[in-house]
Amino acid sequence: MHPHRDRTLIRRPVYDLDERPFMVIWETTNACDLACRHCRAEAISEVEPGTLTTEEGKRLLDQIEQFGKPRPIVILTGGDPFKRDDIFELIAYGTEIGLPMAVSPSGTPLLNRENLLKAKEAGAKAMSLSIDGSTPELHDNFRRVEGSFRMTVDGWQAAHDVGLKVQLNTTVTRYNLADLPNIFKLVQDMGVMTWSVFFLVPTGRGKVEDEVTPQEYEDVMNWLYDAGKLMSVKTTEGHHYKRIVIQRTILDELGVDPSPVMGLGETYERLRADFERIADTSNARYVEEDRMRRSPMHINAGNGFVFISRRGEVFPSGFMPVAGGSVKEGSLVDIYRDSPLFQELRSPDLYEGRCGMCEFRFVCGGSRSRAYAVTGSPVGEEPFCTYEPGSFPYQEELAPYLSHDE
Ligand code: SF4
Repeated sequence: MHPHRDRTLIRRPVYDLDERPFMVIWETTNACDLACRHCRAEAISEVEPGTLTTEEGKRLLDQIEQFGKPRPIVILTGGDPFKRDDIFELIAYGTEIGLPMAVSPSGTPLLNRENLLKAKEAGAKAMSLSIDGSTPELHDNFRRVEGSFRMTVDGWQAAHDVGLKVQLNTTVTRYNLADLPNIFKLVQDMGVMTWSVFFLVPTGRGKVEDEVTPQEYEDVMNWLYDAGKLMSVKTTEGHHYKRIVIQRTILDELGVDPSPVMGLGETYERLRADFERIADTSNARYVEEDRMRRSPMHINAGNGFVFISRRGEVFPSGFMPVAGGSVKEGSLVDIYRDSPLFQELRSPDLYEGRCGMCEFRFVCGGSRSRAYAVTGSPVGEEPFCTYEPGSFPYQEELAPYLSHDE
């Protein structure tokens, strides 16, 4: 008996991702008062010339609206979007034309109750914040600004107070690998809609030497599967987490020890032991149901996901700076649907190396952004996945989870 068989493990939007994205991220500015170790935007302190103006920004929001219903979620990011004087006007405009709006501010003095209230009143539904260490020392050292931890935690509380939903983001690097269970506990105590764990892509200020190893990726993702039974957890640029969720669910159903099958290493054992010591696992639902709170979403760069740079270039993701076109010159809808780059990214049969041969390519596909950063090809092999296609021993149990309609 397989209790999960009738359930789709990897959530898909109800509409065709060839037609419209699930999520549009707009880099409203690269101005930011932080100088984080891994910053994609290589932020500077002032708004750069060439950044989309208020009017150009509104035209962009009009273009997003033209994808039709259900409207994509719009996330205003940066840099720090609160560095733009017109940010509340843009949130209000997007809301007025029917777009679900969210904002992703930085942990600086601008992350205050007054600004959060203005964002909420302008119509923002949610916001995301970043915490990369469980203590002020660990987080501030990573963010390179003293006081950032406190400002972020205070902003987190203020967001709850004004009624904004919070997604908490954490970037996994070798600096905070051992701290992850403590961060989990902090997130659990503070309360969130989702904990999004981001796996570094070596672009911007993010460097290969900051990344954890492919084996550690596997270990962290397997631990996240366990943690995901207590909290809604997702990964960003960690697409093979979807493969791990399917494998681990099958092993759970069969009552098989995951360690030998998944090749789990010391990092997993350490994270798991610390987690059991630190996290509050007394939740009755966790004990009884032992299943994930929320399954991952089937979106990837250019496939359900689109990133608009501050200058209006249309990228498949913020970590793949290859433009399919520009919203200053063309239609976002046409670029997303018809540009060869975006169409190629939505064709897993074109993927190279192990990803192209892999039975998980339609549900996982690897991080296209990391593949691009490391191999130079948007359809290259995901270099930080250790899976050998066809090697999972329960292929028969796997088949129902891999069906796709492409
Ligand atoms: S080989 Fe590629 S498609 Fe297969 S699980 Fe790994 S990242 Fe995903």
